[in-house]
Amino acid sequence: MPFTPLHMGAGVALKAVTRNSFSLVVFGGSQIAIDIQPLVVMLTNKGELHGFSHTILGATLIGLFCGLAGKPIGELFLRLIRKPGYLPIDWRVSFGSAFIGTYSHIFIDSIMHSDVTPLSPFSTASPLYGIISIETLHVLCLAGVFVGGLAYWAVEKKCKKT
Ligand SMILES: [Zn+2]
Repeated sequence: MPFTPLHMGAGVALKAVTRNSFSLVVFGGSQIAIDIQPLVVMLTNKGELHGFSHTILGATLIGLFCGLAGKPIGELFLRLIRKPGYLPIDWRVSFGSAFIGTYSHIFIDSIMHSDVTPLSPFSTASPLYGIISIETLHVLCLAGVFVGGLAYWAVEKKCKKT
């Protein structure tokens, strides 16, 4: 499903651990970018729901684009929401966060959706589909949001004191 906030779980947890070596803004942008294709399919009823964008090849191309666009757009966004402490976004951080975003996205969607074929066009297999239940996957993603969010908040608070 496009733009599911569950994909943010891995990013929030990662941000708590890696601090400014990871950009949650660029990561979030890549989650939106990769789901534009399924959104268009849902709106037009044409094409494969999880098509090329949800393959390793597609995720690599979208990750490259998001790494390039993520730094300037992410920095603009951080200025708009008045979070100058996270500026500037390093190019390495931008690309790293974008690739973690797109690859973790197809990893999670591969478990959840039978039509995700990550190895396409080389294989139509869905090797990760159903390896854990959707309920377990949701719990893990939500745990990432809550535990990661709490950890991030605690670290942030400690940093402000020192
Ligand atoms: Zn998706």
